[in-house]
Formats: sequence, C-alpha cells, structure tokens
Amino acid sequence: MTKKSVRSFSGARPTGRQHLGNYLGAIKNYVALQDEAECIYCVVDLHALTTMETTQNLRENTYDMALDWLAAGIRPEETIVYIQSHVPQVTELHMILSMVTPMGKLTDLPTFKEKVRNHPQNVNYGLLGYPVLMASDILLPKANFVPVGVDQAPHIEFAREIVRSFNYRYNTNVLVEPEIRITEVPKVLGIDGEQKMSKSLNNEIELAATPKETTERVMMMVTDPQRKRRSDPGDPDVCNVFTMHKIYSSPEEVEMVNTECRRAGIGCVECKRLFAKNLNENLIPFRARREELDKTPDTIWDILDAGAKKMRLIADQTMSEVRQAVGLP
Ligand code: SF4
Repeated sequence: MTKKSVRSFSGARPTGRQHLGNYLGAIKNYVALQDEAECIYCVVDLHALTTMETTQNLRENTYDMALDWLAAGIRPEETIVYIQSHVPQVTELHMILSMVTPMGKLTDLPTFKEKVRNHPQNVNYGLLGYPVLMASDILLPKANFVPVGVDQAPHIEFAREIVRSFNYRYNTNVLVEPEIRITEVPKVLGIDGEQKMSKSLNNEIELAATPKETTERVMMMVTDPQRKRRSDPGDPDVCNVFTMHKIYSSPEEVEMVNTECRRAGIGCVECKRLFAKNLNENLIPFRARREELDKTPDTIWDILDAGAKKMRLIADQTMSEVRQAVGLP
C-alpha cells in the first residue's frame, strides 16, 4: 500500500497544555504516523462534556492542546485536525448507531462502571453512550485503523461490533471495520515516581514550561526511595529519573548513570540536573515553534476550522451512504 492509501483516526479530550506523558504516550506517535497514513486528529470536546463540571476553560484548553500538537510536529497541510463539535454529522451517526447497540453491552463495559464509580453524582445519558460516540468518530471517516494502547483496545473492538451489527441489520457494507493498531504506550510516571503522569495529580512536567520551571519540576522528582544519603548506592532500575534518562540522554550518559548510581559515584541532584539539561535541550525546537505559533492565535483557530471543513466533506459522503442504507426518507 502507498503511504496515503490508509487512513488513521485518533481523538483526545481537550486537556490544555500537554505534558511529557501526553507526548511520549500519544503525540510522538501522532507525529510519526503522518509518514505512513492519512491522519485525522480530533479534539473530542463533546466527549469531555460527559464528565465536565464546568466548561469555563474548554475553549482555552482546546487552543492550548492544538497549539502543542502543532508545535510538536502535526502537519496541518497533510493532516486533518479538527474539533469534534464542529462536525455535527458525528452526532447524527451516533444516534443512528445507538439503534444497533444493545443497552446491556454499554452498561457492562468496565469503563462505564469505572466512570459511574468516579462520577456518582453525574451519571448521565452521554456517559453511557460514550463508546457509541467514539465509534461514530472513527466510522465517520471510515478509518482503516486506530492506534491505541492495549487498555483502549476494547473500545475499538466495540466499534467493530457496531459495524458488524449495522451492516448486518441494513444488509450493507457501508461502514468499515477499523483495525486495532496496538501501539507501545510507555507508562510515563509523574514526578512522584509512583502514579501515571497526570494534571489532576499535579505530578506533570509540561512541554511548554520554561527551562527554569522544567528544571524545578525535575529537581522535585522522587528517586530510588532506598537511597537516603549521597553515600548510599542507588538502584537506577527503580528510579523514574533513570527511566527518563533512557529517553532523553545519550547512550554514554545512560551508561554512566547506570554504573555510577550503583556505586554512589553520582548524587541524585547531579543526576537530575543532567536529565533536566538534556530535556530542556530536546524541547528547544518545540518551544521555539510554539512561541512562533502562539504569536498569531488566529492561525490555530484557522487550522482547526479548515480541518473541520475537510472533515465535514468526508462526513457528508459517509452520512449520505448511511442514510440510504438505513432507508431514511
Ligand atoms: S543517581 Fe540518578 S538514577 Fe540513581 S537514584 Fe539518583 S536520580 Fe535515580
């Protein structure tokens, strides 16, 4: 297959300024996939509403996330980047797909049960239909594959089941079963060294932080808990700073830390300074591009508008086929 003969779809909730966990877990892969497929990236603002208590920062968070994506290397000339609510066909398809989705399947999903546990005060209809809306996002552009971490695979399998139900019910092949592309998603721990990096846990390192702020966050990172004093030998295998060195430092530096930590030849302060320096160097091009883009915020909104326009054309085509298959008058 040629480079652009396959289409990939991914979506993410508008969470504002992105952090290292977002970058290493998703954005890096978003950028790389552009060399292989026609990519469509969606800011799923409607999904966000299902658990959101206030929409006060929705616009700002959408802008900041899109800005970070573009600064990191998403190329809008060849990749469609859009806001979910700007393509209303997604809600129409969601409604039609809901007719071939058994209620029991939705209430049985572990993700629904987890959300009910986490948001007992707001168990809304949208929360239940979340996987149907997600299927609609993917099926509207007839994506050939969806890159996901292994924990997200059941959602895509759910979308595949909906395709089979729909195509069987209406005796058609209009909808396309997306392949599940399992991507290696490294578990990026926060500066607490224990939990996954996340804004809500306040353990993140933001991509757009200044070099000084970044260094300060790195210096707060929890290291090998057994290493109490500088003279104690450490174990890099249990230290999150060492994990990050393996991503951002040269092989020689990784080797040096690996050896010297174990014989107390390097202290944690020095080790973190080295990582902070390498991380800041790595982020120079990202920060420069971000600063440039941020000078003209209209550019970001124009890119999102142009993406929605392209996506609406694709959606119109799919929806006319869907309506015909269903037999809507
Ligand atoms: S020297 Fe580096 S790798 Fe070793 S425990 Fe300290 S921060 Fe971690």
